[in-house]
Amino acid sequence: MRLVIIGGPGAGKGTQAAMLSREFGIKSITTGDMFRSIQKRGCEEGMEIGRILSEGKLVPDDITIKAVGNELGLAKYGPGFILDGFPRTVPQADGLDAILASIGRGLDLVIDIEVDDEDMVRRLTGRMVCPECGLIFNRHNEGYPGDGACGACGVGLEARDDDNEETIRRRLKTYHTSTVPLKEYYSDRGLLHTYVSEGIIERTYANIIGALKARGII
Ligand code: ADP
Ligand code: ZN
Repeated sequence: MRLVIIGGPGAGKGTQAAMLSREFGIKSITTGDMFRSIQKRGCEEGMEIGRILSEGKLVPDDITIKAVGNELGLAKYGPGFILDGFPRTVPQADGLDAILASIGRGLDLVIDIEVDDEDMVRRLTGRMVCPECGLIFNRHNEGYPGDGACGACGVGLEARDDDNEETIRRRLKTYHTSTVPLKEYYSDRGLLHTYVSEGIIERTYANIIGALKARGII
């Protein structure tokens, strides 16, 4: 199974990628996580990437394509992969095509999760992440832990540096100008499946499973 998930910031790409990955035993690649871990190394490149992330801009295409290309070459992606957050620009999609052509593979499906812009802003301004286990909570939701600690491991929840309103708005703008053109790119290739999400995780997942079945991918 070789899938791409596209969608704006906070659309829920990562959540769906993790669920699919668990159910089908296919590894996912989350470019945002990849860059955050390079940032944590604190090297020259990490600091540069950290600046780009905190400004809500995109990491340059050449760096991104190379990083994903190196990762996709690993044996663990032999059975397939789920790309979460890549490609985000047309040049990245061309880069992915070239990478896949070089290993004699193609994509099965591109899942596009559409969410209303203001819903995405609301989700991201409330998003709190457990630094220990990665579980995601939302300050705007009922049942948010009063002590601000992760329900699973008790560690204090943190907001991501780029989840402040100004940066969120910039990420949304970047999404509309750079990533939305990918919908046409992939629909022209007969690969696009769009789901308009109202934010119910299970419903989005069921729709994706339906699309995979309808195309004989699973
Ligand atoms: P979100 O989808 O909520 O914006 P991600 O964790 O996917 O969050 O990405 C965080 C940041 O990482 C992006 O704002 C961008 O700076 C960088 N990034 C992630 N994927 C890419 C990509 N494919 N190309 C360029 N930059 C990327
Ligand atoms: Zn936790």
